[in-house]
Amino acid sequence: MEKQDLIGLSADRLRELLMDLGERPYRAAQLYHALYRDRQWDLGLITTFPAKLRQRIAEEFRARVPPVEKKFESADGTVRYLLRLADGKEIETVLMPEEHRDTICVSTQAGCAVDCKFCLTGVLGFQRNLTPGEIVGQVLPVMQENRLEATSKKHPTARPLNLVFMGMGEPLLNYDNVIAAILLLSDAEGIGISTHHMTLSTSGIVPGIERFGQEKVRPKLAISLNATTDAVRSRIMPINRKWPIAELLKACRRFPLRPRERLTFEYVLLEGANDTLEDASRLAKLLRGFPSKVNLIGLNPGPELPFSTPSDERILQFQQTVIRGGVPAFIRKPRGRDIFAACGQLKLAGAEMASLGAGA
Ligand code: SAH
Ligand code: SF4
Repeated sequence: MEKQDLIGLSADRLRELLMDLGERPYRAAQLYHALYRDRQWDLGLITTFPAKLRQRIAEEFRARVPPVEKKFESADGTVRYLLRLADGKEIETVLMPEEHRDTICVSTQAGCAVDCKFCLTGVLGFQRNLTPGEIVGQVLPVMQENRLEATSKKHPTARPLNLVFMGMGEPLLNYDNVIAAILLLSDAEGIGISTHHMTLSTSGIVPGIERFGQEKVRPKLAISLNATTDAVRSRIMPINRKWPIAELLKACRRFPLRPRERLTFEYVLLEGANDTLEDASRLAKLLRGFPSKVNLIGLNPGPELPFSTPSDERILQFQQTVIRGGVPAFIRKPRGRDIFAACGQLKLAGAEMASLGAGA
């Protein structure tokens, strides 16, 4: 019989499992610490357990953290990990080291059903939702391999570690699993990454945004807006036909922000499609009056994508126009384009990468 996997299980669930084995609740706490805080995934080596319990746990369960199948390193330091799931599917996680912090970009689905026309994950189509264990199971091996720690009492001087739910998939279409993963990732008793250091990005699933606003523990929210008229947005993001711009922004205005919190609006610039200065003024007008900021990103090109990247000059002009319109706007540097690790490029398996000449 296949052993039950423990990675992704909550403290409550672990307690039930150990109670079923006739163990006391504090053993579940020890197991929880071993899995998530101490990253001891060889269950036979959990030293807080007596030898007999160690053996029993190792016989009945396993702690499967997806192995790193392949790893690609960019000239800018970005590392793209292909991780192999238990069913053989590959998913992608990206580590972006910066001078004073590290950011891990996490996938929430294998593929994506939203079908944005500028995104390779969209072109790939939907494969399946990731489980909480598979979402947490992306962060753990990357932390382990790079010796990253969340800032905590135990590691007070750790470099800040950020998580962005901006890899493959639409997080709000895998709602329950994503929230369960966030609870595990943020728990100070375990992995311990503060939700102030996490951002979840959505293509604009309005009921999901409303539900997310009610969560007691939640990351910051980013919205992929990407256009300023329904005609253009529906063309590049078909989801706009279901939840058009006005409805999306209404949900954003109602979103219960915490003190000093702002919503981030992401805007992928596509030459000739959504990058006029008129678009920039309209964007500022749409967002004026509620706490927000805009992140601009030039299209990361990919094979099969019917768009090109505007010039740096156009991106700058666009930014200046948004700022003049009264909304803070930042240009996001592309990361890891040379290894196809940048936003919207997550899909290519190793063989395809090699044929495109990306460095392994
Ligand atoms: N599905 C979610 C999160 C993953 S996509 C969402 O759409 O928000 C993360 C970000 O990458 C989104 O803001 C998306 O607009 C952007 N993106 C997608 N394809 C891109 C590309 N080819 N170049 C640049 N950014 C892209
Ligand atoms: Fe899915 Fe986001 Fe890509 Fe759109 S941009 S297809 S929502 S991953």
